[in-house]
Amino acid sequence: MSILKGKAAVVTGSTSGIGKGIAEQLAAEGADIMLNGFGDQKEIRQLEEDLARQYGVRVAYSDADMTKPDEIVAMIKKAESIFGAVDIVVNNAGIQHVCPIDEFPADRWDAVIAINLTSAFHTIKAALPMMKQKGWGRIINVASAHGLSASANKSAYVAAKHGIVGLTKAVALEVATQGITSNAICPGWVLTDLVRGQIEARAKSSGRSFEEEKKLLVAEKTPTQDFSTPEQIGKLAVFLCSDAASQMTGAPFSVDGGWMAQ
Ligand code: NAD
Repeated sequence: MSILKGKAAVVTGSTSGIGKGIAEQLAAEGADIMLNGFGDQKEIRQLEEDLARQYGVRVAYSDADMTKPDEIVAMIKKAESIFGAVDIVVNNAGIQHVCPIDEFPADRWDAVIAINLTSAFHTIKAALPMMKQKGWGRIINVASAHGLSASANKSAYVAAKHGIVGLTKAVALEVATQGITSNAICPGWVLTDLVRGQIEARAKSSGRSFEEEKKLLVAEKTPTQDFSTPEQIGKLAVFLCSDAASQMTGAPFSVDGGWMAQ
């Protein structure tokens, strides 16, 4: 059974990695999807067509830049005009910058906070009135293990991810009696472009191979010694949208191979 038939979801940063995995799992359950993110326009068109054909849902795309509030609001309005409503918002777009804080470029700090945290404020603010009107809504913020714990040289990312866990809780309390839930997913390592870049940088500075650094990176923090997948995160997002999760709100859900248990 398609448990999300008749629902419409906006998934930010869904042209690759975790967001793409979430969009695919929501579509597989019948949700109409507004894709968002950067990338090759031909590949994005192909993704739109593939999801629509494979799952029989409506799929649209917004190129809104998550650093630009006006474009974020226009993306939510576009979803409303195409689908009639926005029932599910997944705040997933994110970037990383790794650098000691005394050398951290101010513009990189601003970009990480804007994309990983402030964009979620704008999507939620724009979409919430529609959810309130229907008496049903799901807000899912893709935070991180770094929303619950810190690592050196990731100050902006850790600050943004702790911030989005706080935002998740505050929103949950504000809408608790209105059929709307707000939760965070906190992945550990997922082998996406965002992490490939970090492994490449480590390999460059250590002289080790990509494969060696990949193993070391996972081994440092992950008891299971393995990556989580976009598909696993997407299936958790589907569960959080289900009726079974209607009493789950204001919570961070770890998908991290045991990272937070240490
Ligand atoms: P990714 O680089 O594969 O995907 C990031 C997505 O965000 C892409 O679609 C990209 O186009 C989009 N994006 C970036 N800047 C944007 C902007 N200004 N406006 C609109 N879209 C923009 O990375 P990912 O690993 O899939 O990351 C997705 C989310 O998961 C991020 O919030 C990240 O912090 C979080 N996360 C990732 C991991 C991991 O190990 N990969 C772990 C924990 C949390």
